[in-house]
Amino acid sequence: MSKVLLITGASRGIGAETARLAAERGYALCLNYLHSHGAVEKLVTSLAGDGHHVITHQANVGVESEVMAMYQAIDREFGRLDGLVNNAGILEQQSDLVDMSRERWQRILDINVIGSFLCAREAVRRMSTRNGGQGGAIVNLSSRAAHLGAAHEYIDYAASKGAIDAMTIGLAKEVGDQGIRVNAVKPGLIYTDIHADSGEAGRVDRLKAGVPMQRGGLPVEVAEAVLWLLSDASSYTSGSFVDVSGGR
Ligand code: NAP
Repeated sequence: MSKVLLITGASRGIGAETARLAAERGYALCLNYLHSHGAVEKLVTSLAGDGHHVITHQANVGVESEVMAMYQAIDREFGRLDGLVNNAGILEQQSDLVDMSRERWQRILDINVIGSFLCAREAVRRMSTRNGGQGGAIVNLSSRAAHLGAAHEYIDYAASKGAIDAMTIGLAKEVGDQGIRVNAVKPGLIYTDIHADSGEAGRVDRLKAGVPMQRGGLPVEVAEAVLWLLSDASSYTSGSFVDVSGGR
């Protein structure tokens, strides 16, 4: 039977490329999205030719009742879970911290941190060998911003990814004896729509001269690292971080 993988924020960018590679490698998929219904349906159509078992599920990962309903849909459709990619994430308009509101920080933390926590909790409940699960793997999308700090851009976002790093380390320790590996990928400057959401669609090109490899990254280059961390090829890797940042 195919391994079952939930990818949050799979309608676009890194999540969509991760879905493409996962389908190629034989995973059954639940593809989560929030607004981009058309994009996720188009993605599924492009996968469907290969006969994959794929469902889509609209849910805001920051809302507990919606996350619970999504996992119930997975239980009904597949009856098991083998992996989670905690990919859904947002950032807001570039700004100095001094001009940020409390509400903005709350939005960022609700989606990037609480959303990842809720999805990880429900995945552990299903995958843990203590609960009769088969074990599995969780891959969290952190960011190089957690180290760089994102000054004058989005310290709130960088802080949310710092929280993801701590959760990755702690959860890996908690569930290591329950058959579950927990790791994170830290992308650098990757060509996706997320930069337009920050008010600067051309951000990767503006900053790429500062990348040792002198270029931005492609979503598929991040997806390859995610798939490796999900796979048995990384069977002794847990609590680890893979930078996909061209050396930045
Ligand atoms: P993106 O192109 O903007 O795509 C974001 C995805 O997240 C979309 O599928 C979106 O769904 C989904 N999403 C947003 N809010 C959601 C919510 N509340 N509930 C469920 N889904 C939600 O972003 P990306 O660049 O691929 O980023 C993916 C991950 O990589 C994020 O965690 C990001 O922080 C991280 N990352 C990206 C970069 C980069 O340079 N691109 C660098 C470091 C880290 P809808 O479109 O359906 O709303």
